[in-house]
Amino acid sequence: EAKRGGRGQFRLFETGMDASIRERRELEVDLRRALALRQFELHYQPFLELSGNKVTGFEALLRWDHPTRGRISPLSFIPLAEETGLIGKIGEWVLRTACTTAAGWPDPMTVAVNVSPVQFKDGTLVETVLSALAQSGLPAHRLEIEITESALLDETQSVLAALARLRDMGVRISMDDFGTGYSSLSYLQKFPFDKIKIDRSFIQGASENPESAAILKAIARLGSSLGMAITAEGVETAEQLERIRGEHCTHVQGYFTGRPMASASIGAFLDR
Ligand code: C2E
Ligand code: MG
Ligand code: MG
Ligand code: MG
Repeated sequence: EAKRGGRGQFRLFETGMDASIRERRELEVDLRRALALRQFELHYQPFLELSGNKVTGFEALLRWDHPTRGRISPLSFIPLAEETGLIGKIGEWVLRTACTTAAGWPDPMTVAVNVSPVQFKDGTLVETVLSALAQSGLPAHRLEIEITESALLDETQSVLAALARLRDMGVRISMDDFGTGYSSLSYLQKFPFDKIKIDRSFIQGASENPESAAILKAIARLGSSLGMAITAEGVETAEQLERIRGEHCTHVQGYFTGRPMASASIGAFLDR
C-alpha cells in the first residue's frame, strides 16, 4: 500500500497538513475578532434540585456563531482560545455577561460559569469576578465557578489560593466532569468544593455496564459524606433519572430536564 501510494500519498498528506494549519490560522484570526463583532452568545442549561424537584440555576455555555462556518462547538474553539491567550478576554466577557443576565432572574437562582485553567495563570481572575459581581449587582452566593481537575494540575497552590479567596467572598466552587481527570481524590482533600459534577460518561454508561454504575454510586456517596452537593451530568432519559434518584445525587442536569437555551427563553421555561 505504502509502495503503491508512494510519493503521491506523501504529497497528499503534506497538503492536508498545510490545509489544517492554514485553517487553524484563519480560525485564530476570526476568534480574535469574534468578541468585537459580537459573535459570541451564552446559552443557559437548567439544573434541578432533586429534593424539591425544582430548577435552582443554569449553567452558562458559550456559543460562537461564525459568519461562514456556522455555530462552532466550544470543545473545538476553547482549546484554541487557551493556546492563543484569547481565553482571558473571552472568559471575562463570559463572566460579566453571565452575572448581568443572572441578576435579572428570580432571587435565589444561581448561574454556573466554566472557568479555564488558563484563566488562573495571570492572577487577575479574582479581581475580574469581583468586578463582574459589583457591576451586575449579582450577590456572590448566586455565582458558581466550575473548574475541571486539569486546573489543579500545575501551580496548584496559586489556584487553590484563588479558589479560597472566591469562596471567602461567597462564590460557590464546583468540580466539573468529575472522574475523568487525574488525582481526583487528593483534590477533594485539598479543597472544600461546594459541588461535584459527575461526568456524564458514568451516568450514560451506568445502564449498560456495572463498572460505570459502581463508580457513579461511589462518587455520589463520597461527595455526600464530604458534605458536597452532587450533580449528575448528561441525564437524557427517564431511566437515567430514576437511577440517580436512588443515589446520593442532589442535582441533575441534562437534555432530559432541559437543553441549553437562549437567555430570552428562560422566562417561559421557568413559567412551565
Ligand atoms: P461542560 O462544562 O461539562 O458542559 C456540559 C456540556 O454537556 C455542554 O456542552 C452541554 O451542552 C452538554 N450536555 C448537557 N446535557 C447533556 C446531555 O444530556 N447529553 C449530552 N450528550 N450532552 C449534554 P457544550 O455546550 O458543547 O460545552 C462543552 C464544554 O465546553 C463544556 O463542558 C465546557 O467544558 C466548555 N465550555 C462551554 N462554555 C464555556 C465557557 O464559557 N468557558 C470555558 N472555559 N469553557 C466552556
Ligand atoms: Mg461545566
Ligand atoms: Mg461538565
Ligand atoms: Mg464537559
